[in-house]
Amino acid sequence: MRGAPTILHLDMDAFYASAEQAAKPSLRGKPVVVGGIGPRGVVATASYEARVFGVRSAMATAQARRLCPNAAYLTPRFTLYRQISDVVMEQLARLSPLVEPLSLDEAFVDLEAGGVEPSAAAVRAVGERLRRDIRAATGLSGSVGLAGSKMLAKIASEQAKPDGLVLIEPGTERELLGPMPVRVVPGVGPATAETLRRAGITTVAETAEAGEAELVRLLGKAHGAGLYALATGHDDRPVVAERDAKSVSVEDTFEEDLTDRTRVQLEVARLADRCVQRLRAAGRSGRTVVVKVRRYDFSTLTRSETLRGPTDDPAVVREAAARLIETVETTAGVRLLGVGVSGLADYTQEDLFAQAASEQEGEDGARAAEEEPLEEAAAPRPRRWLPGLDVVHAEYGAGWVQGSGLGRVTVRFEQPWSEPGRVRTFAVDDPALAPGEPLPLVPPGTQVLPEASAPSAPSSPGGEDGAPFAGGAGRGSP
Ligand SMILES: [Mg+2]
Repeated sequence: MRGAPTILHLDMDAFYASAEQAAKPSLRGKPVVVGGIGPRGVVATASYEARVFGVRSAMATAQARRLCPNAAYLTPRFTLYRQISDVVMEQLARLSPLVEPLSLDEAFVDLEAGGVEPSAAAVRAVGERLRRDIRAATGLSGSVGLAGSKMLAKIASEQAKPDGLVLIEPGTERELLGPMPVRVVPGVGPATAETLRRAGITTVAETAEAGEAELVRLLGKAHGAGLYALATGHDDRPVVAERDAKSVSVEDTFEEDLTDRTRVQLEVARLADRCVQRLRAAGRSGRTVVVKVRRYDFSTLTRSETLRGPTDDPAVVREAAARLIETVETTAGVRLLGVGVSGLADYTQEDLFAQAASEQEGEDGARAAEEEPLEEAAAPRPRRWLPGLDVVHAEYGAGWVQGSGLGRVTVRFEQPWSEPGRVRTFAVDDPALAPGEPLPLVPPGTQVLPEASAPSAPSSPGGEDGAPFAGGAGRGSP
């Protein structure tokens, strides 16, 4: 815990959905759900208008449709989100050499390492300017939390949402944390929360009062001691630039145990993709793929496979993760799944697995559409006009697919900076209609970029435990 609130946590607001609303004027102010649109699809992000109806990230899209039938259900456009993410991460890199991305739209920044004066007024000014710069450069809003530790910075940005900034003054942490549910503490998932609840512990204050010995008795040595430290405000986890980390991992805890084998496989594939997004965001690759499984009875195990060379290919990581999960008995129920890559290097090596895997992916169109591979396949695929994707019409110009079926496709012709556009319907094989590229949200040439120069070459202030799944990173959703 630092004496000044110099750890910044940025989280873009309803990132994928906000990007879609910015891109599609007719959807502004309306419920928008981005995610898998197939029968087994899962919600990636819901706009605030959709959240009013109870739609949440990681919910089955089928359930979201029941709750909010009038929302626009859109396929993710990762190409666009990654472009925006690059712009956002560039803004963060101007503030400090120590930036730790947690996902495409979320990161910690160590302002002290960036030379910002360690006072509440100075860091608040930096945070407000950052929010303005991000809006000018991307057209989107992000929320900022500032505090003396990672845990509190993240809690602060959550409180700031949407489109705000919250600064937690050092010295006020315990008072602020005390009444909060223990679930706000990193590493406390539904299973741990339930164990604590049975012991009469539901808030952070009660957790601290229980004492370390009691928490160790309930949760085991490592978890119990770690939770006690965090609940009493002791969080000295450093901000680690991803290029200095030895592993990248993501994991999800599920509201209900997964028993369906196919669902488990889909979730593992999804986690593999998210893991590769983070790997790529850091410009890294890795040799060892790790899968973590926590079963219904809390038994936790990991399986790993070391590849012949480092990779950052989503297909390779997905394939390895799929092989690993095959070796784990999961039919009795799974609470948590994780996928990690360790043995990181700054380069990749083309390998035969990659080729074989991507060929197979090409054949499996349904899977590719459901999960949206990281790189939109440029190779010709049978045309599937998935809702939300960009198209260009020879006569009407740029638009996006609003829906398709029965041999017809409905397109709305509008651009990020136009008025809401008109809808027209075509035959699915209309030769005038072709897939398009995402348009920038801010018209080129109008971006107001700050004049600050990038910081000089970064130095690493010490390493992090190299084990995958260490720390609380990777639980965020966009
Ligand atoms: Mg977010």
